[in-house]
Amino acid sequence: MRVIRWFLCTLLTLCGVTGVAHADPPARVHRGRNPAPVRPSASVGWPNNGSLDNGRHLAASTSVRILPGRVLQWGTDELVGLLERCAARLKRQLQAPITVGDLSARVGGRIARHRSHQSGRDADLAFFARPDSPRGAWRPVAPTDYVVFDRTGRSLDGTLRFDTARNWALVHALLTDPRVRVERIFISSPLRSLLLQHARAIHAPGRVISLAANTLVQPARVSPHDNHFHIRIVCPSGDRRCHTGVWLPPPPRRRRVAPVRRSRAATTHGYAPRHRATDR
Ligand SMILES: [Zn+2]
Repeated sequence: MRVIRWFLCTLLTLCGVTGVAHADPPARVHRGRNPAPVRPSASVGWPNNGSLDNGRHLAASTSVRILPGRVLQWGTDELVGLLERCAARLKRQLQAPITVGDLSARVGGRIARHRSHQSGRDADLAFFARPDSPRGAWRPVAPTDYVVFDRTGRSLDGTLRFDTARNWALVHALLTDPRVRVERIFISSPLRSLLLQHARAIHAPGRVISLAANTLVQPARVSPHDNHFHIRIVCPSGDRRCHTGVWLPPPPRRRRVAPVRRSRAATTHGYAPRHRATDR
């Protein structure tokens, strides 16, 4: 009997049907369609007359805070990547998140409150602020909206100070990013001066100071930007439909006046026939 059992066991083993424990797991059959690959973003047109293809969303995180009520945080891969890297860097250095307002709509185009922000290359960032008192000198404040600072760096209600050290750290991070070049940072002239004075006082690298001096600008004919930074990056290198500068509307076409047929009376009296008819 034992011999027969041994024979049957050996036969089953050789046939490969000894049990489920030794069988290969069934191959995973992927019945669904493969997820679409992420397509790179593209900035199209100008910041004030453009659109955004395959925009990337900037999400709130421990290092990125979104201003309450703002929902337009779409930008090119380059802009969103820049903000995420700078935010992570500042979080490590200063233990404070950056506060973000508007970027662009998901597909770009015109949005309320802005002339630009149409092609995924613009972002608004709130200034870092701190209490205007010796006790809260290093405590960052989380603003619920943009705060206007006067030329001395004091908020209009006198409770807050423009946090020059942290704001300079943000500018420094933006301008020294290894992958993306910033074209412009709009800020009012007095606050720009505070930043550059601080940079010289702490002996920041000369090339960063001169880059900042060329990049920080108070824009003409629009808000002086005394309550937030407006960042604009250069056209991403692969975006062939991206245009540098701003779109200027074509000059208004002069109405073509039909040539007046001069009648004998007009020749005589200096009136065109139409006028004569009206006058009658
Ligand atoms: Zn802006």
